[in-house]
Amino acid sequence: MKTIFEKSVAGREGCWPCEGMAEEAYIPADLLRDGDIGLPSASELDVVRHFTKLSQRNFGVDGNFYPLGSCTMKYNPKFTESVAGLPGFTRLHPVLPQLQGAGGMCQGALEVMYETENLLSEITGMAAYTLHPMAGAHGELTGVMLMAAYHKDKGNKKTKIIVPDSAHGTNPASAAIAGYDVVTVESVDGIVDPGALAEVLDDEVAGMMMTCPNTLGLFEKNLPEVVRMLREVDALLYYDGANLNAIMGKMRVGDAGFDIVHLNLHKTFATPHGGGGPGSGPVGVSEKLVDFLPISRVAKQEDGQFFLDYNYPKSIGYVAPFYGNFGVYLKAYAYILRLGGVGLTRATENAVLAANYMRKRLSDHFDIPYDRICMHEFVASASPQAKNGVRALDIAKALLDKGHHAPTVYFPLIVPEALMVEPTETENKETLDGFIDDLIAIAEQAKTDPEAIKAAPVTLPVTRLDETHAARAMELTDDL
Ligand SMILES: *Cc1c(COP(=O)(O)O)cnc(C)c1O
Repeated sequence: MKTIFEKSVAGREGCWPCEGMAEEAYIPADLLRDGDIGLPSASELDVVRHFTKLSQRNFGVDGNFYPLGSCTMKYNPKFTESVAGLPGFTRLHPVLPQLQGAGGMCQGALEVMYETENLLSEITGMAAYTLHPMAGAHGELTGVMLMAAYHKDKGNKKTKIIVPDSAHGTNPASAAIAGYDVVTVESVDGIVDPGALAEVLDDEVAGMMMTCPNTLGLFEKNLPEVVRMLREVDALLYYDGANLNAIMGKMRVGDAGFDIVHLNLHKTFATPHGGGGPGSGPVGVSEKLVDFLPISRVAKQEDGQFFLDYNYPKSIGYVAPFYGNFGVYLKAYAYILRLGGVGLTRATENAVLAANYMRKRLSDHFDIPYDRICMHEFVASASPQAKNGVRALDIAKALLDKGHHAPTVYFPLIVPEALMVEPTETENKETLDGFIDDLIAIAEQAKTDPEAIKAAPVTLPVTRLDETHAARAMELTDDL
C-alpha cells in the first residue's frame, strides 16, 4: 500500500476552507506561512479511501477475536462510548466553578465521580476509592505510596515488599519505583504457599502484592492464611484487581482482608485495553488508609451539592493532574449501572466458563502445566511442539494467518513456551470453537510440516521481521 505522500499529485486539492476567498482575506498576513507546508496533495475521496484502508489493516476487537492473555481485549458495548461522548460532559473543563451558586456546571460530573467511587467500593468491599490513577501500574504505584504513608505515620521501619513469582510484572516494578526492596516468594504448584511465605516474612515487610487470579489464571486459595500471616507483622495486603472480571460478584476483596486494591477499568469495566490509553486504575482502600488517599476527593455538602475537598493533611498528595481520565470512569459508571449486580456477576461467570471450556478442549493437544479449574484465563505451553522445532512464537504467527490475534506469549515467565489465553466474557461459542479448531490444526501441522509454521505469517502485508532492526532502523516508506 502506498503512503499518502506517494499518492500525492501536485496541484490536486482536497478541501477549500473558504471557497473563492484568498487566504489573505481570512488569515492575518503575519500568520501566513512563507514556504510550502509539505503536505500531500490529494482529493478528499483519495484521503478517505486511504485512511479507511489503513484502518482495516489495524487489528482490533471490533474486527476479530483477540485472546491476549492478561490484557482483557473484550468487546465493549458502544453505548458506553455514546455516554462518554455526551456534550454535557465533553464540554466541561476541569477548572470550571464547581458549585451551582458560583455558576458551576460540573455538579453532574462530580456526582458521577462520587457515585462511581461508591459503586466500586460496594463491588470490592472497600471503604473508599480514588479515581485519579491513569493505568493499572499507576494504581499500583499509588497503592504502594499509600502503604509507605501508613507505615511512616505509625513510625514503622519497613523496607521490603513481598511479590510472588506469579504476580503481574508491573507489581515488582511499582514496589521498586516506590523505593522498596522486592522480595520474591516462589509459588508452589502455581500458587503462593504459606510455608514458602514464612521463609521470607519478617518485621521489615511493609506489605505483599498479590495478583489474584495470578498470571497462571489460578485463584490464590491460600489467601486467608496469607492474610493472617501478614497481619502478624503489621504488613499491608495489596490486591492487584486488574482482572476483576474473574471474581466480581463472587468475592469482595475487602471482605477477604485486603487493605488496598487497584482495578483496571480499561479491562473489566468497558474501555478497551491497549493502544496506549487512555486508561484508569482506581485504587480502593480499607478504613485505616482513607486519610492517606490522594487529593482532591469528591465530597457532598449538606445541601446535596458536590465539591472537591483538598483538606486531607495526611494525603500522599497529587498522583495525577486534575482527577484522572474522566471519560474512562464515566464509561465504567454507565457500564456498571447498565449491567447491575446480576449482570456483573454473569460477566464473571461467562469469562471463567469460556476460559475453562478452551482449556479443556485444548488439553489433549498442548501441554497445560496447571491443568485444573482456572479463572478468566489459562496458560498452555508449546513445549511438546518445541521438541519438533515449533516454538510458541511460531504458533502465535501461524494464528495470524488464520485471522486471529495471537495470545500472549512467553509470559508468565515461570511457564516455558507459554501461550497465555484469555477468551473474555463477550465471545460466543462459535468464535471460541473456531479459534480452538485452528489452534489444534496448527498443533497437528507442527508434527507433519513444522517448516510451514515457522514460515508464518504468509498472508499479511508484513511477514517475519528482524524486530531489532525494525525498531532501530525504521523505514516507513516501503511499498507494502
Ligand atoms: C494489565 C495488568 C496490569 C497493568 O495495567 P496497565 O494499565 O497496563 O498499567 C497490572 N496487573 C495485572 C494483573 C494486569 O493484568
